Parts: sequence; structure tokens; C-alpha cells
Amino acid sequence: MKDSKNLSRRAFLKRAGAATATALFYSLSPINILADDDDKKNRKDEPVHSDMTYRINRHTHDKVSILGYGMMRLPYKNRQIDQEMVNQEVAYAIEHGVNYFDTSPHYCNSQSEASLGQALKGFPRDKFMVATKLSNFGQEEWSAEASKKMYYNSFKNLGVDVIDYYLLHGIGMGGMKSLNGRFIDNGMLDFLLEERKAGRIRNLGFSYHGEVEVFDYLLSINDKCHWDFVQIEMNYVDWEHAHDLNKRNTDAIYLNGELEKRGIQAVIMEPLLGGRLARLPENLVKKLKAKRPDDSVASWAFRWVGTQPNTLTALSGMTTMEVLKENVKTFSPLDPVTKDEEELLMEVAAIYAGYHTIPCTACKYCMPCPYGVDIPGNFAFYNQGVTDGTLPPLDRSAEDYKEKTAAFIDAYKKAIPADAWATKCMDCRECLSKCPQHIRIPNQMERLMDMLEA
Ligand code: SF4
Ligand code: SF4
Repeated sequence: MKDSKNLSRRAFLKRAGAATATALFYSLSPINILADDDDKKNRKDEPVHSDMTYRINRHTHDKVSILGYGMMRLPYKNRQIDQEMVNQEVAYAIEHGVNYFDTSPHYCNSQSEASLGQALKGFPRDKFMVATKLSNFGQEEWSAEASKKMYYNSFKNLGVDVIDYYLLHGIGMGGMKSLNGRFIDNGMLDFLLEERKAGRIRNLGFSYHGEVEVFDYLLSINDKCHWDFVQIEMNYVDWEHAHDLNKRNTDAIYLNGELEKRGIQAVIMEPLLGGRLARLPENLVKKLKAKRPDDSVASWAFRWVGTQPNTLTALSGMTTMEVLKENVKTFSPLDPVTKDEEELLMEVAAIYAGYHTIPCTACKYCMPCPYGVDIPGNFAFYNQGVTDGTLPPLDRSAEDYKEKTAAFIDAYKKAIPADAWATKCMDCRECLSKCPQHIRIPNQMERLMDMLEA
């Protein structure tokens, strides 16, 4: 494990195989199906269903669209899920070849599964695959009875008899104690293995969010569990810089490598690092635009995860039709990154890692804050300041200190409602254990407070 973590950039390029291997892989690999004729590659207009790139699941031979629809963030209208919009987006996705839909009983105030079930009504069952999770996070949900209730509810909410992909959710958060309490001691893991045997679950896996000891343990019992897939965080910045950035156990070189060794494909979450790789600082945007002027910066991140041979599907939370259409275009078909592009992305990643942003992915697991603080909103504002260079200087005697601080406070007041400011944080620490990125939330709030109360 240590060796993998310490893989150098050069070693990575060698290992990833870069251009030659990528091109060769895509032309030979049985797990990739590309719509690759020149006509499709040059197509500028609206993609069609057959343009989508698929990967073949090595265990069940499912043909999975490389773009997966993440239902963690749905469109809202008047504080309610905008069901009409969800229906339209899901219909567009299916029409354009997307067939993997990922949800959880926990998402969108527990409304996401039912909303997806509603949107899928009427579509032939072979047009979509649903992925959902055992999200029994609270200790009151750890009993077998409560966990099974959550499991059976998912079938009802989604309107299906069989769940295509079922995950032990949030593995690693809370360490081995939480794993044992949520899945082992209560017999839920054995129960789910039996459910897969009975055919009510087609693929069983887990989503990894935290302490690597737990990840390693679950892989060590692979002979018993035969994991069909594992969901990990992976993007071109976290690939080499996760540890430098935030000391998390999300070294994707290690995680993905361990899965590859065992022939387990990866479902990718956070390909955009919580949306941050779609909002790069201007100097980095220029670098990417110089290479491919017509491409969005987000498409670079998606192409990179799609190019990795072990990726089964890459999840994207597409709340607007505009974003959905752009992502469909990126993967219709996937244009794998070349060796030059790979090198450019690693250069961009190294510069980006130097910005020291807060590694918030806007997952909202820490919410609601009992004192009303909009935790992800505050961190998004701070991160934008880091990358735009608009944060007040640390040196209070700096010439531009007053001017920059005033502008920062002014922009902050416009962006964040007064009852959700960082200054409302009471250091109650309720949010601390909930953050899969292990962010010291109250400490970060204090830093923001310092800037705002300057
Ligand atoms: S520590 Fe601060 S941000 Fe976290 S829950 Fe408590 S008041 Fe909210
Ligand atoms: S602070 Fe942590 S838990 Fe909260 S939204 Fe950000 S990443 Fe998620």
C-alpha cells in the first residue's frame, strides 16, 4: 500500500499507459464499446442514443453507459423537488443512452429514490439500471429490523422487483466500529449476500468515503463477498494530490489499483471534485482552452475518468438540462485523453493542488447545522476566493489589505444569506463526524469568521 501511495507522476504515466496504451486499450478491450466511426467523432450536432460509450460489467455482463446519473442533487422549485424537470431530464438521459441511475434513501431529504422511481415509470425495465444503498447512518438504524426496512422501502420507492446495483453506503466513515455496527454484527452483510443469491440484488458493492483500514478489510473478505463493483472518489486532482490537499484516505491510485488487482470495476464519484473542476481559475482554464478551445473545462475531467480502463461508469449529478446535455455530448462517444492531454492535466492538477482549497464536495452530509450555517455554501465561497485570488491577504499590514477585505466582505454578504453566515457557528461540533472528507468544519468556520470580522 505504501508503495502505491508513493507512485510518482512519471510512474503513474507509465502505469496508466498514456496514449499508446489508451488507444490500444480502446481498440482491443472487450470491456469497452465505442461508437468510433469518423462520422460520429466529427459530429457537432445533437448526439443520438447509439453514440453513447458503454462499458461491460465483467461479472454480470451488463452494458453500462459510461455516464451515470447521480440523483444526490435534484432540481428544486418552491422548496420541493421539481418532479416535472426530473421526469424530463431522466427521459432525455434514457433517450440518449444513459442507463445507470444512482440514488440513496438518504438523498434530497429522503425524497430522491421516490422521485427517481416516478421518473422511471413507463420506461421498459431493460432501458435502465438502478443503484441504491443501505444508508443506515444513524445508530437508531443499525438494527437488522431498521436496516431491512430501509432495504425493502427502496424497492417500493423505486417501483422495481430487482435492484441492479446495491451498495453498503459510506464505508469508512466512522471506521471499523461503524462498519461492524451497521453491517457485520447485525447480520446485514450476510443478509445482502443471500439477497444477491436469490436474485433480488444483481450486483453488490460498497461506496468508500473514509478510513482506508475499512476499505482494505472489505477487500480482504472478497473471497466471501465477491464484490461486483466498488464506488470510489476519483478525479485528475485527487489522483496524485489527495493527500497533499487534505490528508484524506482517498488516494485514487491506491484505491483503483487495489480494485484492478482483484478484477473489480470502479463506479466513480466526484469526477469534478464537488463541481470545483468545472470552475477552475482563469490561468488554468486558459491552458485547457489553448489545447481544445471548444471544450468545457468540465469535459476534461469527465474524459479523464472515462479514459481509465477500470471505470465502469462515472457519476454526475446533473441538476439542469444544460449540464445533462453537455455531459451526454462528452461521452457520445468518449474521446479518450491522449498522452499530451494527460500530461497537461497532471500539470493543471499540480497547480490546482497548490491553491489549498477546503476539500468540500458539497455532499451536504453535515447538514442541517442546528445553528443554520450553510456549511457547503460558505466553503464554496471561500474556495472561489482562493482560486480567484480575492481572499483578504494574511498579512494585515499589506497595502491592499483593507481594500481586499472590504470587497471580500461585500461579496460574501451578497452571496450568503445573513442567517447562514459562518459567524453563526457555535462550535457545537455536531457536524464533525458527519463529513466524509474529514474537514475540521468548526476550525474552518473560525478562519472565515476571522476574515469577516476583520
Ligand atoms: S460546529 Fe458550527 S457549523 Fe458545525 S454544526 Fe455546530 S454550529 Fe454548525
Ligand atoms: S463539509 Fe463535508 S459533509 Fe459538509 S458538504 Fe462539505 S464535504 Fe460534505
